Amino acid sequence: MDLSDILDPLNEPQRQAVCAPSGNLLVLAGAGSGKTRVLTHRIAYLIRIGEASTYNVMAVTFTNKAAREMRQRIEQILGTPLSGMWVGTFHGIAHRLLRSHWQEAKLPQTFQIIDSDDQYRLIRRSLKELDLDEKRWPPKETQWKINYHKDEGVRAGAIDVQGDLYLETFVRIYLHYEDLCQRNGLVDFAELLLRAQELWLQHPEVCRHYRDRFRHLLVDEFQDTNAIQYSWIRTLAADQSHTFVVGDDDQSIYGWRGAKVGNLQQFQRQFTEVELIRLEQNYRSTRTILTAANALIDNNGDRLGKNLWTAGEEGEPIRLYGAFNEIDEATYIVEQIERWVRGGRSRQEVAILYRSNAQSRVIEAALLQHGLPYRVYGGLRFYERAEIKDVLAYLRLCTNRDDDPSLERIINTPTRGIGGRTLDMLRDYARDHEMSLWRSAERMIAAGALTPRATAALQRFLDLIAEMSCGSEVSLEQQVDAVIKLSALGDHYKKEGREKGLSRIENMEELVSAAKSFVHGEDLEEGEEAMDDLTAFLAHAALEAGEGQAEEWEECVQLMSLHSAKGLEFPLVFIAGVEEGLFPHKRSLQEEGRLEEERRLCYVGVTRAKEELVLTYAEVRRLYGQENFSHPSRFLREIPEECVQIVRLQGVAAPISAGQKKGASFTTEAASTTSFSLGQQVTHPKFGEGTVVQSEGSGAQARLQVNFDRVGLKWLVIAYAHLQPL
Ligand code: ATP
Ligand code: MG
Repeated sequence: MDLSDILDPLNEPQRQAVCAPSGNLLVLAGAGSGKTRVLTHRIAYLIRIGEASTYNVMAVTFTNKAAREMRQRIEQILGTPLSGMWVGTFHGIAHRLLRSHWQEAKLPQTFQIIDSDDQYRLIRRSLKELDLDEKRWPPKETQWKINYHKDEGVRAGAIDVQGDLYLETFVRIYLHYEDLCQRNGLVDFAELLLRAQELWLQHPEVCRHYRDRFRHLLVDEFQDTNAIQYSWIRTLAADQSHTFVVGDDDQSIYGWRGAKVGNLQQFQRQFTEVELIRLEQNYRSTRTILTAANALIDNNGDRLGKNLWTAGEEGEPIRLYGAFNEIDEATYIVEQIERWVRGGRSRQEVAILYRSNAQSRVIEAALLQHGLPYRVYGGLRFYERAEIKDVLAYLRLCTNRDDDPSLERIINTPTRGIGGRTLDMLRDYARDHEMSLWRSAERMIAAGALTPRATAALQRFLDLIAEMSCGSEVSLEQQVDAVIKLSALGDHYKKEGREKGLSRIENMEELVSAAKSFVHGEDLEEGEEAMDDLTAFLAHAALEAGEGQAEEWEECVQLMSLHSAKGLEFPLVFIAGVEEGLFPHKRSLQEEGRLEEERRLCYVGVTRAKEELVLTYAEVRRLYGQENFSHPSRFLREIPEECVQIVRLQGVAAPISAGQKKGASFTTEAASTTSFSLGQQVTHPKFGEGTVVQSEGSGAQARLQVNFDRVGLKWLVIAYAHLQPL
């Protein structure tokens, strides 16, 4: 491959970044200016000019999907398959390290990754074992607090309690939880990073090895690194490696989870001779979308500040639709997607973004109703479904008998006559003897400490797991299949009813195919060969589930939270629920600095759109089982009116409520098939006054349901009803 293939598709400052002499470099630039492109081309460039081999490069991206795409892209540019290059998320890379160095990291070889669900359960168990009241120590909050400390790199033992009783108790919980994880061979997400950092610090020889190896470190989305990730990079880089980071302070959206946008400045201060490059040309969005985004983010103070411009076309105005309620909102979105598809465009080009995952349900229903295939990122993912977690728990117990959460999960799923009392006895024994539930069961059976019935039931369970643990003689696929059959989970779920049971069984079958197609170690590293297929598969499942990304899709509309849309781009983007209280989220109004973070999130959302952007809000919204009236979001007012076109239903004014700009001179567009809007007040010659609550059909068949003050609900055919708007 020619060098020109790498450099030609770049503008001048991009080229400057890609070709910069080895050293430390920060690319600070706004959305869609080619940061990720520069990072990718930089790697290709380094390899192409022989400055580095794939072996010398470590690239950290935000999701596994981004990592895969980056790898493919580089392979495409270079025209050769890449091997030995470490590209992944912080968690993925830390996991890989810990697998290779489990002994130095003081982990059992069979250690397992737990997700936030498992972690929650372990914390509840810790509280129980410490006799602490969940009311005073809400498990979710405690979990958050523990993770917060881990993200800051602070172990329980390192917290200075200074005689503070509350803190002292917290430290006891944290310690207890740490012990429990260690004993069970379990590692939570935050622990992956902390352990890996401690590995550097406590084993200089390991650290040196990787420093010598990774001469080039590259990090995307640097604005969202937390304390531990930052110091991890810093420790690894020392003064030996060249660190290339790209980021955008205006897109820092994980402050609530400990990310530190200040890491951008800290990087400039702490790393030697950092070259700063700014990119200002946006290649993603139309001029209209970019103008809106720039104006919006301009409302935040304390920015590093940058100009972002585009040579692109002005494009369509941003459409703003004020819906009567969330159902109307979803219907509008779906109609717009149908229009897009009728225009010859693909569903895959469309993304629907929202602030809260719970918003997806209504939108999903509308998509289903219209037969539009879709994919939800970050909803209940495949690996988080109950039946899948059950099978995985069996498998985990097969590789690691000390995995208590897995044992607790399936010891009685399906029911096998092991009662609550027996379990309590096991737990007590485990706590008193500081051993796992499995070992306790073995001991108690041997000591004859249980009733004959309980002993028999428990023994059958232990035998079952032993039988399932076929070891390396069989393939991964056969092993998964064996677990499903021997566990009788299929029969168990059939009892749930036909449809649901069947879909669960299908999912389990899907897991067998996932196992079949799982290729362990496309790019095996030293130490990694030791990981058997099952262990690798389980780690893969845990990491994929933690990330909240859907796998491959085909021809699907994509639904996701604004947070998970980071780094992505789509020709048509909807942002739903742009209302005060929902977006900005009401929680953000109480805490300092959070409103700015919400605005950055909105900036991220707006800048995902390449060609068309549609913003919607509802006047009435039922969410979390509650109905609320709301005002359009303040963010809407921050977008220049000349960028926006208010969508109104034909013939009557759109239901835009107060809260909007006074005297707004937005242009309007007729959109709906009916000439009345939901929520509109109307009058009928016979029934009197009422409110439009539903509509269906179009043209001569168009009907409306009106809630009349005197006679209640009535369906009326518009063509004959002589309805008048009030
Ligand atoms: P974000 O801040 O959202 O992560 P980014 O800065 O990483 O965005 P990229 O995703 O790298 O931006 O690029 C945005 C879009 O612009 C992509 O479609 C990319 O291919 C395109 N692009 C970037 N640079 C150029 C260029 N010099 N010429 C043509 N297209 C470009
Ligand atoms: Mg990017």
